[in-house]
Amino acid sequence: MSQKRIIIIGGGPAGLTAAYELSKIEGMLPVVLEQTGFWGGISRTEEQNGNRIDIGGHRFFSKSGKVMNWWQQMMPVCNNLTDCQDKRDVLLIRHRKSRIYYNKRFFDYPVTLNFTTIKNLGVFNTVLIGLSYLKTKIFPPANIQSLEDFFISRFGQRLYRTFFKDYTEKVWGVSCANIPAEWGKQRIKGLSVTKTLLHALKKLFPGSTGNIAQKNVETSLIEYFLYPKYGPGQMWELVADRVAANGGILKQNYKVTGLNFDRNRIVSVEAVNLITGQTETFQADTVISTMPVKNLIESFNRKVPQTVKELAARLQYRDFITVGLLLQNMKQKLDDNWIYIQENYVKVGRLQIFNNWSPYMVKNPVYTWVGLEYFCNEGDNLWQLSKQEMTELAIDEMIRLDFIADKQTVLDSKVIKVPKAYPAYFGAYEQFDKIRSYTDSIDNLYLAGRNGMHKYNNQDHSMLTAMAAVESITGKKPGKNHIWTVNTEETYHEEK
Ligand SMILES: Cc1cc2nc3c(=O)[nH]c(=O)nc-3n(C[C@H](O)[C@H](O)[C@H](O)COP(=O)(O)OP(=O)(O)OC[C@H]3O[C@@H](n4cnc5c(N)ncnc54)[C@H](O)[C@@H]3O)c2cc1C
Repeated sequence: MSQKRIIIIGGGPAGLTAAYELSKIEGMLPVVLEQTGFWGGISRTEEQNGNRIDIGGHRFFSKSGKVMNWWQQMMPVCNNLTDCQDKRDVLLIRHRKSRIYYNKRFFDYPVTLNFTTIKNLGVFNTVLIGLSYLKTKIFPPANIQSLEDFFISRFGQRLYRTFFKDYTEKVWGVSCANIPAEWGKQRIKGLSVTKTLLHALKKLFPGSTGNIAQKNVETSLIEYFLYPKYGPGQMWELVADRVAANGGILKQNYKVTGLNFDRNRIVSVEAVNLITGQTETFQADTVISTMPVKNLIESFNRKVPQTVKELAARLQYRDFITVGLLLQNMKQKLDDNWIYIQENYVKVGRLQIFNNWSPYMVKNPVYTWVGLEYFCNEGDNLWQLSKQEMTELAIDEMIRLDFIADKQTVLDSKVIKVPKAYPAYFGAYEQFDKIRSYTDSIDNLYLAGRNGMHKYNNQDHSMLTAMAAVESITGKKPGKNHIWTVNTEETYHEEK
């Protein structure tokens, strides 16, 4: 029986999940084309002289039992660190600790109105925050147009300025006054500081936030998470091995640049081998794309309707830079997984402490291996800084934040630039349905994943969309609608 060739564009969680699921089915031949030399996409692990970096800090947690089981079938859970010592492919159970750093003080996450919080904020400030919230409740703003209006209407001016404004503006690079309020309504659950402060507000004003209990449940659910011993990429490297063992074809350093059509079907995919510079053509019976929609549409070797072409070209993204620093010592020992930096005199948005994700991420555990996260736009001033300039900026900010004494404490560094880390929900996004109708109308094309569908998906939802695409392709569930309905309600997001 001749095999059906499914070309999968991208070797991130979505692409590899699709490949693995297809590789188990008789008659299906998955062919993965990945432009980098890594498996795992944004969820990859990079290495610097034996120290491993997780770009973003990836918790393996899902409300989908299907995903939790899938991960554990790939890698068994190891219950304690001593047991894990001699095992390689295992998931560790990690306890989450994250705090907010504001005014050079640490605030618990979720914020609890305990003595330390009031001491850090100051009694006067705490009272002002409460009064400002009460004012908003008594005189709610009439016209909520921007995200800033939305935040203030929910939390009051002071609370918004204390904990929301700087971090949100760092993440999105746009003033909250210029982000549509609609975005807040859609995304509010995903903002960790929001959850944090709702939690605090509940305690401040009992009875004022009826849905807090749900949020508490959500928070407690993510008190613990799974984490591969050597970072998230370890999971995806293992999945790639399994796909190959099942007969699938996997190619790294192949960048897809063209899709060729015969009427309404894709018949082949062109990819440049980035090592040789040669373009190669891969015959396709079906295509699953997890590459950014914007680039996918640019790659169509056919006439694309003008509106769709223009909308796709205007899709926006937020880009990201991680700077890893190996530190001989820090001024204080921190046991957080990550810390939100809510300080407006620095550009860094979050600090990851990789030792606390997995001690095996660090070659010599005597040292502290941290990651400073910068949110930016491809091509902006930050993006254009050389690796050395970026490292110098990170060291300088670590000193200004009072985390290290001087630059002599820094033993090694690594800069990783991640284009299109976040698909943005503004700009042309409001007309995304037109792009979707067009791509869905192509008989043998299935979009999956995060940038693949321009959806703010975590690994679990990226994987579920890939599983749904496989169900469509195999006829288990006809049509493409169900791929788009993969849970957006129950989601939790990486802002944590
Ligand atoms: C800062 C941050 C923190 C996060 N934290 C978490 C977390 O705690 N938990 C969690 O579950 N998720 C988290 N996520 C989300 C997670 O990273 C994504 O959901 C997941 O990686 C998406 O998988 P994907 O396969 O859809 O896309 P990607 O990971 O983006 O993979 C797409 C792949 O396609 C390749 N590609 C693109 N264009 C082409 C082309 N033209 N040709 C060939 N290949 C191409 C890319 O190189 C990439 O490997 C976080 C994300 C960020 C940015």
